[in-house]
Amino acid sequence: MTRPDPLVDGVREGHRAAVSRAITLMESTRPEHRARARELLAALEAPSRPAVRVGISGLPGVGKSTFIETLGRQLTAAGHRLGVLAVDPSSQRTGGSVLGDKTRMPTLATDPDAYIRASPSAGTLGGVARATSQAILVLEAAAYDVVLVETVGVGQSETTVAGMVDTFLFLTLARTGDQLQGIKRGILELADVIAVNKADGDRKTEARVAARDLSSALRMVQGRDSAPTVVTCSGLTGEGVDELWAKVLDHRDRLGPDGLAEKRSHQQLDFAWALVRDELEQRLRRSVPVRRVGAEVRGEVLRGELPAVAAADRILAAYDGDADAAPANP
Ligand code: GDP
Repeated sequence: MTRPDPLVDGVREGHRAAVSRAITLMESTRPEHRARARELLAALEAPSRPAVRVGISGLPGVGKSTFIETLGRQLTAAGHRLGVLAVDPSSQRTGGSVLGDKTRMPTLATDPDAYIRASPSAGTLGGVARATSQAILVLEAAAYDVVLVETVGVGQSETTVAGMVDTFLFLTLARTGDQLQGIKRGILELADVIAVNKADGDRKTEARVAARDLSSALRMVQGRDSAPTVVTCSGLTGEGVDELWAKVLDHRDRLGPDGLAEKRSHQQLDFAWALVRDELEQRLRRSVPVRRVGAEVRGEVLRGELPAVAAADRILAAYDGDADAAPANP
């Protein structure tokens, strides 16, 4: 018999305070917290039906928080328990989180069936990803059956979030330029469903035209079968939000139970390697000999005295010879 663990019981019973404490443990980088987090994860059970995990991305101002408020209210009114997590790389620079901030979603923040969590404000993208993917497991064990992972539409965070969710939803606007930027950065290739948001008032027609154009462009680039579904909606008025959610669920249903399980296993494998790469990069940064050799070769490479390949070999040799590069953290 294992001894009773009040935190495990609290999470299982869906108590918010326990959920918050458990997620705080997942975010911690302290070795004793990591060990406790692992113990906790091992004790928590997966839900009998896998929760719906959806990523939501889009540039700042596209209407993500307004949309999540509207969708979230509908979901909890329909009897779901909703978790909202944020992956926000900007929070590591500013020390504050823009996404997932409770004040952005005032109604959901006071909804007993919704749990909103800001992005951890310290650590690398890999660290935030680790915390977030474990927070998903905590929420699922606490019977949250829909988990939205929100991220801002810049850089690598989309790829990270796409690797944690069943369906990736991209919000965009009818303005030209936005769409092209999205295509250029490859974000649209990650998207399973795209919504042209703010399709209300005078902008309705413009949004519909944009959605149609985007849809045919993506079909040309990605092929009819793999191109994402494009719809219009308004997070503000709620118009089209039901239909959009139905498309999200359609995408997930099309995977089927086996397809979903397979997708999640592959995500786990990819994630394991992403964590390894992240940790190696941290060790490189921390290694004193690497920093010393790095400083030495810098001048030589800049002056054209040392080829890049030779510089890389010297840095790697310094790293290989550095026994301290191995971390103290387990
Ligand atoms: P976020 O930065 O992506 O979270 O965007 P917000 O949800 O904070 O919205 C940015 C601005 O757009 C706010 O002024 C919102 O009121 C407005 N907005 C959001 N959704 C809609 C919408 O569906 N229609 C219209 N017309 N405005 C919206």
